[in-house]
Amino acid sequence: MANPYLEIDRLMLGDIHTAMDQMDNLTVLCDDFGSRFGGTEGERSAARFFVDLFKAYGLKNVRREPYTYASWTRGATTLELVEPVKKEIPCIALPYCPSATIEAEMVDVGDAAPADFEAMGRRGRGKLVMVTSRPPQGLGRNVHRSEKYARSALGGAAGFIFMNHYDGRGPATGSIADNREALIPGISVSKEWGSYLQRLQSRRGPIRLKLKTRNRTRPRKSWNVIGELPGNRLDGQWVMTGCHYDGHDISQGAMDPISGMVAILESARVLSRYAKDRIGCGIRFIAFGTEEIGLIGAKEYVKAHQDELDEIRLLVNMDSAGGAGRKGLIVHRRPEVDAFFENAAKEMAYDMPYGQGMSAFSDHFPFFNAGVPTCGMGDAEATFTGRGFGHTAFDTMDKINLADLREAASVLSRLLLRVACEEKWPAKRWSSRQVERVSKGDANLEIVKVEADLERLYRRRR
Ligand SMILES: [Zn+2]
Repeated sequence: MANPYLEIDRLMLGDIHTAMDQMDNLTVLCDDFGSRFGGTEGERSAARFFVDLFKAYGLKNVRREPYTYASWTRGATTLELVEPVKKEIPCIALPYCPSATIEAEMVDVGDAAPADFEAMGRRGRGKLVMVTSRPPQGLGRNVHRSEKYARSALGGAAGFIFMNHYDGRGPATGSIADNREALIPGISVSKEWGSYLQRLQSRRGPIRLKLKTRNRTRPRKSWNVIGELPGNRLDGQWVMTGCHYDGHDISQGAMDPISGMVAILESARVLSRYAKDRIGCGIRFIAFGTEEIGLIGAKEYVKAHQDELDEIRLLVNMDSAGGAGRKGLIVHRRPEVDAFFENAAKEMAYDMPYGQGMSAFSDHFPFFNAGVPTCGMGDAEATFTGRGFGHTAFDTMDKINLADLREAASVLSRLLLRVACEEKWPAKRWSSRQVERVSKGDANLEIVKVEADLERLYRRRR
């Protein structure tokens, strides 16, 4: 098949595959700036770094858009086994964990499918409910930590214990509320310590634990960072790509998220250099702030740019996209773009995994809810078995391969070019009623219902 962009493809891909910019940027973002978790000095430095790079790459209208949010800082947390034996259990608090002291029995809900909570019934009341991070088998969808937490709280739990399901990776973190202090405390333990508690309980009967945790939630400022390549023909239309830049405070967040962000930086660099006079509509590049604690930056962007949402052809979410795995697109319920991307893949002579899917757990979701066409880079054909090193202290840059970064940046650059040059884009923004119709009955969005129930409980209790 003829490729009308062959010249530009060759220039962009040749450059990406012979430059070290991505690894250099990754090194600064991980080794120099650290976790970039909301409220850290590294977060502030990263936001400035994107401004400088976007400008150096020749993007226009480069800016930081500040907003206020509830930042969370961990203090000391201890988990003490009180009965049937005394022992200190290593653990960490999960973001937005309130300060608390609780002594209670443990209830183990395993992989925590909705049916496991039904089976637990009233036994969870006033207890410390333990779940694993493993996706429940045979359910046909993942059950996110947020849903396991919400179901525990709704079941009357006094606290939540999140047990990692991987050997040797320590506890797995992840927030238990969005942009505010959580209702009940949540902590994480390693697989090894979680298994010990499970064995002890089955051998010796009920076990009692004492949890003491001190943390702090308070207002702070964060930023979305934005840069643009203006279009040449299709006025008032944009294709956007974005990725969050905050990791978790226990980690470098090398794969999740920043591998995706360095691919965006690289796309900005090569599209600016080889395609800026050719693109039809504009291309906007966004580094989203504070995703890990409630998609806050993306929600703020949607709120601040209400009157421009009609102009967005597509948002390509690059969260974690430079990690291992095949690099294609997972489009969020927009079959009207299938023909366009199938054609693009052929034209690119690229074996691109492609399909429709849905998830509520990254920065595309506030845009999806506002009716904007969205997709994420990933492998639509892969089955999700868990986060791997993600959300542990071991998500460090030594796990990231240059080849993966190069492929992510190559695919992103070629797709952005093609979407920006298409004269008649097939997807339009949905009304809120259309969003509702598509969301309803989607098992992957079960979390929306469960969180609405949790919200009612939250309002009653606070
Ligand atoms: Zn992420």
